[in-house]
Amino acid sequence: MNKELRQAVIAGNWKMNKTRPEAKALIEELKPIAEKASCGVVICVPFTNLETAVELTKGTNIKVGAENVHFEKSGAFTGEISADMLTEIGVEYVIIGHSERRQYFGETDETVNKRTKAALAAGLKPIVCVGELLWERECNITEEVVARQIKLDLFDVSAEDVKKTIIAYEPVWAIGTGKVATAEQAEEVCKLIRDVLAKLYDKETADAVTIQYGGSMNPKNAAELLAQEDVDGGLIGGASLKAADFGVLLDEASK
Ligand code: PEP
Repeated sequence: MNKELRQAVIAGNWKMNKTRPEAKALIEELKPIAEKASCGVVICVPFTNLETAVELTKGTNIKVGAENVHFEKSGAFTGEISADMLTEIGVEYVIIGHSERRQYFGETDETVNKRTKAALAAGLKPIVCVGELLWERECNITEEVVARQIKLDLFDVSAEDVKKTIIAYEPVWAIGTGKVATAEQAEEVCKLIRDVLAKLYDKETADAVTIQYGGSMNPKNAAELLAQEDVDGGLIGGASLKAADFGVLLDEASK
């Protein structure tokens, strides 16, 4: 990555894991490990653990994120959580458009765009996930798919706001599968995303955006992935559930 232009951020995505006691234990283990990181450190936790995480991380360098947010401010949306509800309790980040939400919960680029704008309006930093299916990669349309997602997901988002947004490139075939993209594949698509941003906005804006790689990143493969020019950290699922593993990724992103 280019440290002069942007910050590397390692963000954990706990998904639907950790009861409150388990969350407390993991955060306590993580605090001394994260302390020495010079990259950004974020943990995105289930809604039920958000207040606990905010409380336990006060005064540390660990920031807390949610795993989803609704786009309306309030109203008849049973089961949903608004951006104001998140900021009110001290949440700073939110994952939007994760492939599991696209796959299992009918998330579309239109709703990703609405959630992203609602999050930014409330002062949250969105982590917007994009990435191709295995079938799309095999059909050689990765570039088209990812460019289209970026254009739709960021439609009507200002240059000022896009600089507060993190993009996570997550090839769907690499998430939770143990199949990691090669460093070249990760760099190729992260660079493509930056080029699309430069066309949509300008080079200075594109250079300021943190673009993560996500998909089976772990202590063994992190160094090579994170050494790529346009890979500015990672969105981490499985390896964020073990403090020691997450710590290795923080060390690598801090180099
Ligand atoms: C993710 O959930 O965003 C992810 C990248 O998961 P994993 O690291 O387990 O592949």
